[in-house]
Formats: sequence, C-alpha cells, structure tokens
Amino acid sequence: MHAKKINIAIDGFSSCGKSTMARDLARKLGYTYIDSGAMYRALALHAIRKGWITGTEINEEALRKHIREISITFSPNARGGQDTCLNGECVETEIRTLEAADGASRISTLGFVRKELVRRQQEMGKAKGIVMDGRDIGTVVFPDAELKLFLTAPPEVRAQRRFDEMKAAGITPPPYEEILAAVKERDLRDTTRAESPLRKADDAIELDNTRTGIGEQLQWALEMFHRIPAKE
Ligand code: C5P
Repeated sequence: MHAKKINIAIDGFSSCGKSTMARDLARKLGYTYIDSGAMYRALALHAIRKGWITGTEINEEALRKHIREISITFSPNARGGQDTCLNGECVETEIRTLEAADGASRISTLGFVRKELVRRQQEMGKAKGIVMDGRDIGTVVFPDAELKLFLTAPPEVRAQRRFDEMKAAGITPPPYEEILAAVKERDLRDTTRAESPLRKADDAIELDNTRTGIGEQLQWALEMFHRIPAKE
C-alpha cells in the first residue's frame, strides 16, 4: 500500500465513470475499493427476490425488519476487481440490470436503509486506505475524507456509456432512449430526495469527464492524491 494512507471519496451522478476511476485509483495505490452503489443494488436485489419491491410499492416493514440480517460482502475476482456477494452468493451480474438499479435508487430514499448502509461503510473506512464511490461519500459517509472528488458528465453521454457497457458485458441493452430516460429519472431522484441527496461537498474537486479518457482521468485523480500532504 502507498505510504500515505487516507480515505478517498468519489461522488457523482450515475454512470459517470466513478467506479472505473475508484477501481483504477485503488489498484494504483494498493488501497481497498468499495462500490457503495453495489451495496444498495444488492439490497434491492434481495428485496426484489423476496417480493418486497414491486412496480409501484415497497414493503418497508419487511425490509426494515430484516435489513440487519442481510449480508453484503465483496470478494476479489480473477479480473482483478471485486464481486458483490449477497448472503454469500455472487450477484455481480444480477445487480447490474436496470431493474436492480431502479430498485436501488428507490430504496436508497429510505432513511433506515441509508442509516444501516452508511454504518457499514463507515466501519469499513476505519482502517483508512479506502477508495469509496457513491452519492454521499464526501458529504455523509466520510465527511472528513482527506480527498474528495466529484465527477460529472451530461446525461446523454452517461446513457451512451451505460449502453456500450451492457453490450460489452454481453447483456442485450434496452433501447438507448430507455436508458437515457432511466438515467434522467435517477438523477432527479438522487438529487431531490430528502435523505442525503446527491450534492458536491464544498471541499470536493470536480471533473467533467465528457472528453476525458479512462487513463487521463486516473492521471488527474493521482495528481489530486499527490497534492494531499502526508500526515506527520
Ligand atoms: O452507483 P450506482 O449506480 O451503482 O448506484 C445505484 C443507486 O444506489 C443509485 O441510483 C443511488 O440512488 C443509490 N446510491 C446511493 N448512495 C450511494 C450509492 C448509491 O443512494 N452512496
């Protein structure tokens, strides 16, 4: 691990390249990468499977009753990344569908869901040396993070990326227009919810990565990391 051991918070809109930047940065620094969105997705998948989330309703009572028993962990995979596990089962592919994303976005508006996942995330950050990406990492989970980055790009750019990503992963993507509508709907929900809405922390450094390649955005993030003075 890099001799400088800090926590790095990466926030931004959905499909903004946060996970890519966070994963690359963690690998480069020998830090642990935690995809907080995957935790909301895994919880949503569990709720969908149990029938607690339907097209219009969420069974909040059932979710509240069982939330603490639901185990969400990460396990290193052969590609050098991490697979998300739900009660010990690898669900990395299942949580990447639009249905799971929509479910995640819906349950993430619930105060008790955020409270429980934030508690688990803060626990993971205690030892430092973490790169975590999400919506509220710099504002709520690690308000004291030494480095906070905030990524943006227009919805059209992000919808196209998600479309290409699904194709590359071997998932037949829905029509582009449908993805764009979903991206816009999630943006609206993420920024207007009462509980920890998506917002750039005052001390976060912003990057619009519309024209920034993956290697370039990593270089930028590393530059920001090296600007942080090492603690005595
Ligand atoms: O980042 P990702 O798209 O995987 O996140 C899925 C959903 O989980 C988001 O739409 C957002 O509503 C929610 N989320 C959140 N807080 C986080 C991470 C994700 O509310 N820290």
